[in-house]
Amino acid sequence: MKVINSVAEMQQFAREHRGEIALVPTMGYLHEGHASLMVEARKRARIVVASIFVNPTQFGVNEDLDSYPRDLERDTRVASEAGVDIIFAPTAAEMYPSGYQTYVNVEELTTHLCGASRPGHFRGVTTVVSKLFNIVMPRVAIFGKKDFQQLAVIKRMAKDLNMDVEIVGMPIVREHDGLALSSRNVRLDTTQRRSALSLSRSLRVAKEALRGGEQSVAALKKAVAEVIEAEPMAEIDYLEFRDPDTLLELEQADERTLLALAVRIGSVRLIDNCILGEE
Ligand code: AMP
Repeated sequence: MKVINSVAEMQQFAREHRGEIALVPTMGYLHEGHASLMVEARKRARIVVASIFVNPTQFGVNEDLDSYPRDLERDTRVASEAGVDIIFAPTAAEMYPSGYQTYVNVEELTTHLCGASRPGHFRGVTTVVSKLFNIVMPRVAIFGKKDFQQLAVIKRMAKDLNMDVEIVGMPIVREHDGLALSSRNVRLDTTQRRSALSLSRSLRVAKEALRGGEQSVAALKKAVAEVIEAEPMAEIDYLEFRDPDTLLELEQADERTLLALAVRIGSVRLIDNCILGEE
C-alpha cells in the first residue's frame, strides 16, 4: 500500500488508471464502518483509493475540527488490512491553497436535518468530494448510510453535475450493543457511552411501535424522545421522521420512512438513523 500526499501525484496516477479506481472518502481514525466500505470497494474495482482528510471547510467555527481524532499510522494499518491500495492524505494547504474561492452547493436537500444544525457543513462536504472526484477520477465511490443525508446530497450532486461516478451506499456498522461506529466515539467516557446507547435503542423502539401499528409521527416522536431524554447526559439536536428521498417532513410514517437523529452527549454530537421497515 502506498501513501500519496500530493494532489499532482494522485492525479497523475489517476490519469493512468482511469476507469479502474474505487474511492472511499474518509476523515480517518478508521474503524470497522470505514473498513466495510473499503471491502466493498475492493469488490468493485481493480484499484482501491481511500482518502484521509479532515476537511476544514465542513466544520463550523465552534465545531470540533481541532479535537477531531487523528492517527495516520493506525489508519494505514486498518486500510491495508481492508485491501486499500493507495491512501490519499493531503494537507489542508494542499487542498485549499491561498487564493482558494470555489465551492459546490446542493441547495434544497441541505436545508434539512444536519444542514439546519450545521450551516455550511454540506457546502464543505460537496466541495471536498467534488475535488476528490477530480483528483482521484474514480469510477465508483462508496459512502456509508450512517451519514444518510450526506449520501443523499452526494447522489444529488453527482446527478445534477453529470459526474461520471457511481455512488454506492453501504449499511451502518454497529458495535455488538447497537452503538453505531463513529470516529467520535473515542471521545465518550464510560458514562457517556452508556447514554449514547439510547440512540440505537430509540431506533428500535420506533421500529417496534410502527410494527405495532403506530403510524402517527407525533406519537412516534414522543416515544423516541422519551428513550433519549431518560438519559441525563443526552440532549436532542434533532429527531425527525422524513421521506428518505426528499427529506421532507411527514405526518404519517410507514416502512419506508427515515428516522434521523442527532444527539449531543456532553461535547460530542452523535448521529444515527434507520429506515423504519428495515431490520
Ligand atoms: P467519516 O470518516 O466519519 O467522514 O466517514 C467516512 C465514510 O464512512 C462516510 O461515508 C461515512 O458514512 C462512513 N461511515 C462512518 N461510520 C460508519 C458506520 N458506522 N457504518 C458504515 N459507514 C460508516
